[in-house]
Amino acid sequence: MTAQSTAGRALSGPPLDEVVATYFPAPHSYTGEHVVEITGHGSPVLLQAILKRAIAEGARLAEPGEFTLRAFLNGKRDLIQSEAVADLIDAATPLQARIAFDQLEGTLTEHITTLDAQLFDLIAKLEASLDFPDEGYHFVDPSSAASQIASVVEALDHLLRGAVAGRMIREGATVVVAGRPNVGKSSVFNRLAGSDRAIVTAIAGTTRDLVTEPIDVDGIAVTLVDTAGWRNTHDVVESEGVARGTRARGVADLVLLVLDASEPLTHEDDRLLTDTASANRIVVINKSDLAAPSPKLRGGEIAVSALTGEGFALLRKAIANALVGEERLRDATPISNTRHIALLEQCRASLESARHAAEATDVPEEFLLMDLQAARARLDEIVGRRTSEDVLRHIFERFCIGK
Ligand code: GDP
Repeated sequence: MTAQSTAGRALSGPPLDEVVATYFPAPHSYTGEHVVEITGHGSPVLLQAILKRAIAEGARLAEPGEFTLRAFLNGKRDLIQSEAVADLIDAATPLQARIAFDQLEGTLTEHITTLDAQLFDLIAKLEASLDFPDEGYHFVDPSSAASQIASVVEALDHLLRGAVAGRMIREGATVVVAGRPNVGKSSVFNRLAGSDRAIVTAIAGTTRDLVTEPIDVDGIAVTLVDTAGWRNTHDVVESEGVARGTRARGVADLVLLVLDASEPLTHEDDRLLTDTASANRIVVINKSDLAAPSPKLRGGEIAVSALTGEGFALLRKAIANALVGEERLRDATPISNTRHIALLEQCRASLESARHAAEATDVPEEFLLMDLQAARARLDEIVGRRTSEDVLRHIFERFCIGK
């Protein structure tokens, strides 16, 4: 059937375009329903006209995320996989995309399903014990229940360890370049950013505000922040810059503290080294082209030259490692969704209280059972077996129209 004859029979008005209509019979479509996809010639004018005609014939525009919501409601995907669709669309780095794809494929779902099955098994045995109290034996003794709960808690902890890395990969990290004036902060910043974004001058104290640049460090979306040179200053504009720099260091996921290889450590360097000692920090010794790094510290510093570019490959690796840690990425399932993390933590809390109930002699089994059911309910919420309409609305609102 041609488009023209379809238009002639089913629609009013003159033909608009020659299109391909693809019919996906249920349940073999994205949403699991009968779906027809119309592929037109792509000009915005034509697409508008086709949409307008379809709406005039009784169709309506989809809500944001409506197709994925329908797929969820029809059981084509669970909630984790539906959320992964939005993450995949929003992915800003290849690593973000990989994690989203993993979740779309069901990696996290699998973990949750395994844990859920273990809890279900334990609950069934406990319920049987309660239903047949006169049989003279328990289907599960308390110490074995406690150890089974402990193993689920351990598995949850493993998942939650992946959450730190996952969140960093999804939401990105803030990396602040700090150091006293003229050590080469702006030059290091520019090398990392690959542009001349921050103004480099030989006059101390020229970077007066925070300069930021989004960069990709080994797949992690990093916002690089160049701070005003730290020093005691009376210049009002500059001191505001210094104050912002101090605040920026406070909220950074990582501080690159830049020192100058060609000069001995100054009082200001010492103060910054002390100030940032407890932060996630990399000490960068810049201007390695001028001298062998002279500030002798404890080791672990990275020597670079912003002038020649030497040492920057190593610095990038070190930044990625300090932010997410290679080993964490290798064997953890990175969980990046705040909703999943919060529910896993709530599940863990219920299991801890179940474990205490199992270990205590004076707590009735009903209490243990209630805690286990609460823990299981949290897992159900993660995959979407039970959710409120509010939660669903909130999740699907962030989708774009047509997804
Ligand atoms: P900031 O005040 O810490 O931001 O320092 P700048 O990036 O403005 O650099 C201060 C001075 O040091 C400038 O004259 C730069 O050209 C120079 N400089 C920066 N990095 C290097 C380097 O790796 N080697 C050499 N030889 N000079 C550098």
